[in-house]
Amino acid sequence: MSDPNCVFCRIASGQIPATILFQDENLLAFRDIAPQAPTHIVLIPRAHFSGLNDLTPERAGLVGEIALVAKDLAAGEGLAASGWRLVSNAGPDAGQTVFHLHFHLLGGRPMGGRMA
Ligand code: 5GP
Ligand code: ZN
Repeated sequence: MSDPNCVFCRIASGQIPATILFQDENLLAFRDIAPQAPTHIVLIPRAHFSGLNDLTPERAGLVGEIALVAKDLAAGEGLAASGWRLVSNAGPDAGQTVFHLHFHLLGGRPMGGRMA
């Protein structure tokens, strides 16, 4: 459920400080330490698993919960009209560096029409 060597588990347990914007029983959202856009928020489930490669039907509801929280956070950041992006990197080619499922909420600048 929790991995003591995982930076996001450590944020979820309060061992590493972060600017937390939302938390409930299942999820946590906090500002990325190295923002790639004016708004860059990381959304995670509290439960530790590596990412979308380890998504199961039992865990799939978490993705919907994350999308709903992302929508509200984006609106709160004033991005509903200007636009924003929700992305999850899965594996080496995607550049995943933290192996605890997370989504990036990015906005506040034009993202361009390409995905990468
Ligand atoms: P990935 O590259 O795995 O998709 O994204 C990992 C993200 O986690 C990166 O954007 C990185 O800046 C962020 N990150 C890594 N360590 C920390 C940390 O200790 N605190 C916060 N707030 N973000 C972190
Ligand atoms: Zn973890």
